This record gives sequence, structure tokens and C-alpha cells, in this order.
Amino acid sequence: MLILTYHSVSNRRQGGLAVSVENFDRQMKYFYKKGYRTISLAQAIEKKDLSSKSFVITFDDGYQDNYTNAYFILKRYGFSATIFLITGYIGTDRLFKPERYIERYGGREEDYYFLSWRAIREMSNNGIEFGSHTISHPHLTRLSYQEARKEIQGSKKQIEEEIGTKIIFFCYPYGDFNGRIQKILKECGYEGAVVTPYGRLKEGKFSLKRVGIYRKDNMLRFKFKVSPWFDGLRRMRNVRIHRMQSLQSR
Ligand SMILES: [Zn+2]
Repeated sequence: MLILTYHSVSNRRQGGLAVSVENFDRQMKYFYKKGYRTISLAQAIEKKDLSSKSFVITFDDGYQDNYTNAYFILKRYGFSATIFLITGYIGTDRLFKPERYIERYGGREEDYYFLSWRAIREMSNNGIEFGSHTISHPHLTRLSYQEARKEIQGSKKQIEEEIGTKIIFFCYPYGDFNGRIQKILKECGYEGAVVTPYGRLKEGKFSLKRVGIYRKDNMLRFKFKVSPWFDGLRRMRNVRIHRMQSLQSR
């Protein structure tokens, strides 16, 4: 199952994680014209209603531009998506690593704002799903059991209270996980988790593999990355095709 990872859709942000509005529209139009439809992560793991023309769209972190830029494009093509929220930033004016992002990648403070709960509720009422990406975006494997559990459970609880829907999917910050973290996820009632691997990865419900789409992916590269060829290559060896991914973990 093809699961795409986006972070930001923005013309002002110039970092690798921000796909321009035009490119995002072109990418969605590509799937639309090929007759693809989006399914939820739950459908993907239950393997229900699967066709070769199904795919899943996900967004990490919960930037405001997911609402102001991506949401209306998704609606234009009748697509849904799952957005993974860092709840400690949602509905606040806190910025995630501002010293790095704004200085290096341009844009204004507003371009790095996170979603409001109001926007999240509106999207939730219109087919967009949400998942947890922890409270503070830590490297989970470096935390104690108690600390990790607080991040994993606290974020889930807050989203559930805010939107009134059960949260069952999780996204590992920096793709950092191990068996201990997966066990905590299961204890807290999650049913699956996603990761964007560099190369080979043993896939399971708690390590669902995604393909990261970044600013420098032109249409040719995008078409390759969403094709079965890319996954085949990734399975064979650790191809660092998307070096941009390491941006967030630096
Ligand atoms: Zn993240």
C-alpha cells in the first residue's frame, strides 16, 4: 500500500519539508487523473476495499498550512488524509525549532505556525483524520518508560478530548522506535504506527512504511517515488534517495 508523507505545503517556506502549493496540486492531480482514491490508514491495515488504485496521504507535525493550503486542494480532488499532531504545539503560538527553520529556510513566523484546534475540528468533521505525533516530538527511545508513556498517552488523550474521536494511529518522531516503544503504543490502545524509512524496514502494523515527498521532488522524481519501482529499490538496499529526510533529525 502506498502511503505518502508530507509535512508542510507552503510557497514561503523554502526548506526541504515544505512542498510548494503548485507542486502539491500537481501531485494530487496526478493521482486524480489516474483514477486513484484515498483510503484511511485503518482501511489500509484491515486490507479492506483495497484496489491497486488506493493510496493513503499523511502529514506530520500539524502545521497550519495543512489547513490553509493543503486542505482545499485535497477537497478539490475528493481526497482525504491523516494528520499527525505534536500536541504540545497545536493551538499555541509556539514554534518548533524556530532558530533553525526561519533562519535557514526563510519565511515569516506565521509560516511555521501549528494548527488551531478549531481548524482541526473543522477538518475532522469533513473527512480528515488525525493521529498522534507525541506531545513534544522527542527521540522516544532515549526516554524512560514513564516519560515515553506520557508522550504517547498524553497526546492521544488530548486529541480525543478535543475532537471527540478515538485516536488509533501514531507517528514516531524522527522515525525513532524499538520494541519497547511499540509495546507502550499497544498498551495505550493504538492499532498502528507509521514511519518513513531511509531504506529497508521490516513492515508491520506498528511500522507501516511511507514514502516521503519533499520540496526538491519534481514531477519526474515524484512519479518514480510513488511507483512500485521505488519500493523495490528500497527493499533491495538502503538507498538514500530522500536525503532531505535527515533534515529533521539533525
Ligand atoms: Zn515530525
